[in-house]
Amino acid sequence: MNKCRVCGNESGNSIHVAKELQLGLGDEFQYLECSKCGCLQILEIPADLWRYYPKHYYSYRSASATLDYSKSGLTGFKQRFLLHALTNYYFGKKGFFGKWLAGRSILSRDFPLWVRRQRLSLDLRKDSLILDVGCGKGQLLLDMHAYGFTNLRGIDPFLDADVFYDNGVKIYKKAVENMEGKFDFIMLNHSFEHMPNQLETLLKLRSLLKPKSYLLIRIPIAGSYYQRRYGSNWAALDAPRHLYLHTRESLNLLATQAGFVVSEVVFDSDGFTHWASEQYVAGISFEDPRSYSVNPNNSIFKKDDIDGFAELAAQLNDKGESDCAAFVLRA
Ligand SMILES: [Zn+2]
Repeated sequence: MNKCRVCGNESGNSIHVAKELQLGLGDEFQYLECSKCGCLQILEIPADLWRYYPKHYYSYRSASATLDYSKSGLTGFKQRFLLHALTNYYFGKKGFFGKWLAGRSILSRDFPLWVRRQRLSLDLRKDSLILDVGCGKGQLLLDMHAYGFTNLRGIDPFLDADVFYDNGVKIYKKAVENMEGKFDFIMLNHSFEHMPNQLETLLKLRSLLKPKSYLLIRIPIAGSYYQRRYGSNWAALDAPRHLYLHTRESLNLLATQAGFVVSEVVFDSDGFTHWASEQYVAGISFEDPRSYSVNPNNSIFKKDDIDGFAELAAQLNDKGESDCAAFVLRA
């Protein structure tokens, strides 16, 4: 009965109880932990899962279309030139100027951690057709437009309606199984763990990619330092929205089954799950007035605490023991 839905293992699996903590509802859910591949998975997917994605859910808050460098004095052409050089370095072909710039410019701070920590081989051009699956209102796509990309699409089934930005970024209210086309690059930024049909989704994504192009999957990782430390209060567990919490092994297995090759892995925790887990231990939900996400000045943390969480996350990232990772899969 208690069979792992990823590797099929039936023996030695354990059951854990996890509560809904982000919204503070406290509803209980059972998760199976596979003794073989390590994948943590919700035992039964709730029929009313939509109930746990309220209108104000964080990724559906509005997105903003500009990066603000006014303090740095970088504006107009100069800002665009430097940003595009960094984009070439991080996403395209290696270049000496970009590499030099990445080590120095304050602009590099506006690129996501998974881009900055390790230069991945994605070989994108500025006009590559890029799809963000489960993009919410599309903040990352808007940032990528500022980096210089011109062909950006997003889908998210939980949106109220399609969103077309003036700068050409197009977001459709759509699920991945209804998507068509051929893309140069597809990314899932913390959306794959919300999807019930894992292998079917990967197979569909592979059919949406041009040959030899790349899929990026960023997910929370089971078996991390944080999970061991916080157990059912581990914030990245996020019951019941997170249906699957993979290990490197279980994600590898799934990728292979779908015909992908895992070409690179980069760990990219930033300390967020650490302070959120600490809040859960103290009985503070993500939405509580005392939550750091609601008002840092009213939270239980000092700036030093938050800096410390980020520092530890960086050390754990280096050792591959943190709780978020980006997997690059080659089609
Ligand atoms: Zn398993």
